[in-house]
Amino acid sequence: MANFQEFEVWFVTGAQLLYGGDAVKQVDAHSNAIVKGLNESGNLPIKIVYKGTVNSEKEVTAAFKAANNDNKCVGIITWMHTFSPAKMWIHGLQELNKPLLHFHTQFNKEIPWDTMDMDFMNLNQSAHGDREFGHMVSRMRKNRKVVVGHWQDPKAQAKIAVWMRVVAAWADAKDMLIIRFGDQMNNVAVTDGDKVEAELKLGYHVDYCPISELVAVQATVKDNEIKALVDEYHKEYVCTPEILDEKSHAYKQVWEAAREEVALRKLLKAKGAKAFTTNFDDLSTLDQLPGLACQRLMAEGYGFGAEGDWKTAALYRTMWFMSQGMPKGCSFLEDYTLNFDGDKSAILQAHMLEVCTLISEEKPKLEVHPLGIGGKNDPARVVFTSKQGSGIAATIVDLGNRFRMIVNKVDCIKSKELPKLPFASNLWIPQPTFEIGAAAWILCGGTHHTSFSYDLTTEYLEDYADIAGIELVVIDNDTTIPSLKKELRYNDLYYMLNRALQS
Ligand code: MN
Repeated sequence: MANFQEFEVWFVTGAQLLYGGDAVKQVDAHSNAIVKGLNESGNLPIKIVYKGTVNSEKEVTAAFKAANNDNKCVGIITWMHTFSPAKMWIHGLQELNKPLLHFHTQFNKEIPWDTMDMDFMNLNQSAHGDREFGHMVSRMRKNRKVVVGHWQDPKAQAKIAVWMRVVAAWADAKDMLIIRFGDQMNNVAVTDGDKVEAELKLGYHVDYCPISELVAVQATVKDNEIKALVDEYHKEYVCTPEILDEKSHAYKQVWEAAREEVALRKLLKAKGAKAFTTNFDDLSTLDQLPGLACQRLMAEGYGFGAEGDWKTAALYRTMWFMSQGMPKGCSFLEDYTLNFDGDKSAILQAHMLEVCTLISEEKPKLEVHPLGIGGKNDPARVVFTSKQGSGIAATIVDLGNRFRMIVNKVDCIKSKELPKLPFASNLWIPQPTFEIGAAAWILCGGTHHTSFSYDLTTEYLEDYADIAGIELVVIDNDTTIPSLKKELRYNDLYYMLNRALQS
């Protein structure tokens, strides 16, 4: 699967020719030094390529058109070194279809109080040049990220790094195929939505695949392929003697789970899919719900949503992609059951089986137990409790006239094992409190399924929602119910008017 090495972010410096050839050379030298410094900081996941200084409308438009047509380029950073009259940016900005970051920085860190003269001021005009540029981008109602800070400041670099991970995931989503094995679970509303609008707004494409195709691939899986995978399970997970005993029922069920995993991976690879959904109601002749396969494929980066939930499958893939290489992990999760306990009231997060192994707090246990839904044989699964600490739970819902992304900051606390219901789980308290967080989520129309990450912050999904141009509602320690209700009402009005103006 793709990683960040194949991407580039382009850096374009704005200036004008008013100040003569020497100024142009210096602008170029400063830009090169900034780009080199950023690349060598070790704080940025994607290489920045300096694409020169633009001094005219023609040069701006040429640079942005080139960015549009370059597959490696996943975003543009602009910075105004001198005053760059913003009418020259109009046509280029009209053309630009890559994400934009406006870096409000300055070559020199501090004012050279004793030596500053008019030549210095003619050259170093970011303070007002960036405002002129910003005015035009705002006037054109173009979303972008504005980062303010000196280019050597790790805090400014961290904000650029966030945006870089998001634009890489955005490029990934534009080339994302999601395979639905079966349809949505019948009658379920919140996991459904407009797949055409999703492709227009969010980039990804959703296809249906009959489960019989997976069954057919499964029939071609060889015993040695299954054996290799079962051996891998035995190494990676804690196993009881029964699981390891080749004559046991449990061993046989793990064997069948491995057969499903080999088949699923083969089929997804053959189709070039990055995400998939299953439906426990539509398993044809599969031996069991492919729980273990989903747990493991998620850890590899495949997006997953249960019961046909393609929006969560896509969002999981995107959040996994953004957080590649980060330490704590991410998972598909479902609000499973509530624990009322005063200040420690929390929501148990789980699913029938499909929780990603990345969030486990210890070596997971491989187990086989009956599943009282779906009417199939006993499925294998890995069982674990999850790490503690803060994270974000996110979803995208289809409100009929638009997509709304909802993000809740949550605090994960120590969970307990469930001897009578052995599956993987997480336990969290939504911010600002259990009562307000859950009420806010319900008022927003949020799903019972979420894509969860320990490593990402709301800043990532704010950047994502801005690039996609979709609504974002954040529920965190600043949320109050009256203010949230107002926000939702204002947003309704905004998106209604926006749509009316576009049509
Ligand atoms: Mn579910």
